[in-house]
Amino acid sequence: MRRLFGTNGIRGVVNETLTPQFTLKVAEAVGTFFDGGEILLGYDGRISSPALASAAASGLASTGCTVYLAGMAPTPAIQYAMKRHGLDGGIIITASHNPPEYNGIKVLGNDGVEISREQEIKIEEIFFEERQKRVEWNRIGEIRKLSGIIEEYIEAVKMHVNVEEIRKKHFRVVVDPGNGVGSLAAPQLLRELGCKVFTINANVDGTFPGRPSEPKPENLGDLAAVVKAVNADFGVAYDGDADRAIFVDENGTIHWGDKTFALIEKEFLKQNPGEVIVTPVSSSSLIKDIAKVYNGEVVWTKVGSVDVSHKMKEINAKLGGEENGGVFYGPHQPVRDGAMTTALILDILAKTSRKLSELLNELPTCFIEKDKVECPDDLKEKVLKALYEELEKENLKFDTIDGAKIWFEDSSILVRPSGTEPIFRLYAEAKNRDRTLELIRKYKEKLGKIITKIVQEVGN
Ligand code: MG
Repeated sequence: MRRLFGTNGIRGVVNETLTPQFTLKVAEAVGTFFDGGEILLGYDGRISSPALASAAASGLASTGCTVYLAGMAPTPAIQYAMKRHGLDGGIIITASHNPPEYNGIKVLGNDGVEISREQEIKIEEIFFEERQKRVEWNRIGEIRKLSGIIEEYIEAVKMHVNVEEIRKKHFRVVVDPGNGVGSLAAPQLLRELGCKVFTINANVDGTFPGRPSEPKPENLGDLAAVVKAVNADFGVAYDGDADRAIFVDENGTIHWGDKTFALIEKEFLKQNPGEVIVTPVSSSSLIKDIAKVYNGEVVWTKVGSVDVSHKMKEINAKLGGEENGGVFYGPHQPVRDGAMTTALILDILAKTSRKLSELLNELPTCFIEKDKVECPDDLKEKVLKALYEELEKENLKFDTIDGAKIWFEDSSILVRPSGTEPIFRLYAEAKNRDRTLELIRKYKEKLGKIITKIVQEVGN
């Protein structure tokens, strides 16, 4: 089946696969799907975003939808505006953390959450069967401006933390939005929370001159250095559309997202024992271990933020998170939200009166190792089936939510077929590094043998 949507909406290189013409056609299909509703349209800080958004606006209006232009804003701010203004659907032009030549199209439902896989398929059918609805000339939708969504979003985030307590602490915070749209909300939010704010890469620039837009440890050296130089309480970096946040403690140590999520989880469960935590199977046992100690329950999902959001909605969960720095705070909205995550960390620092390094370093230690094995796309299903059979033969405990998550006493490994590349991804985690390396080595070898065997069978 032909598909438009990948793991995270529609993505492509601008003016190669992702042209204004293509965007217009997709928007016509989206408008047809929402059947003349009120649709919000926003975009990130990429060079191509305003042009693609204009094409999307035209496409939506041609199907009779009323279009509300939210302008340039962080993805979570646009998502929040959906709910706030009671609109029927939304489109965001963004490629999140991808390199600058990319852009993408995200489609939102009326609660601001990205639409489900089933709804994506409906839009794809309209697109490929060319069933785009074109209304009569006098029914073409209006294009209106919706201003002030970032201010509304900042106010909403503040409602979920203890503003007075945070303000009393006069925290010193360094913000690195990586020249993305995080520049438009986070510094302002922090100032309103009484912080002394220092910024780097905080001018929106679609060429991402400061650092690559993905907030990985190897890209955050400048942030770590500035945190130390200005004696800050912590530093925070966002990805291009500011739905993910990665933190640097007061010593300049960069912490991966599973640590900060585990800290938020711990403090949340202390206040709300018995609650459910939603996380993809790619997360480490840290999340499970914290839940065990603090009386929570973990519900695992497939890898992908949309899967986490939809599971949270389905079971009415209040907290979700990913190892890449995505935290979903349900009482605000069940989507990844970089500014909300930052406010939650401030809330924890204010409440505990402790340093971020202390809070993070006292969490159980967990080592993560990732790797990949090449495998042709058309063989992935067969390979996975053969792997399941072997695991059964070996009497191992494993889940099949997304690939195979194999559980051991002190560690686990996830082996899953990538949705976007001809590879299997491996994520191992354990209490010590040697064990993670051993798991990776063992399962790379096992997977390699299975693939070789199946390639030979298919060849014969
Ligand atoms: Mg993002």
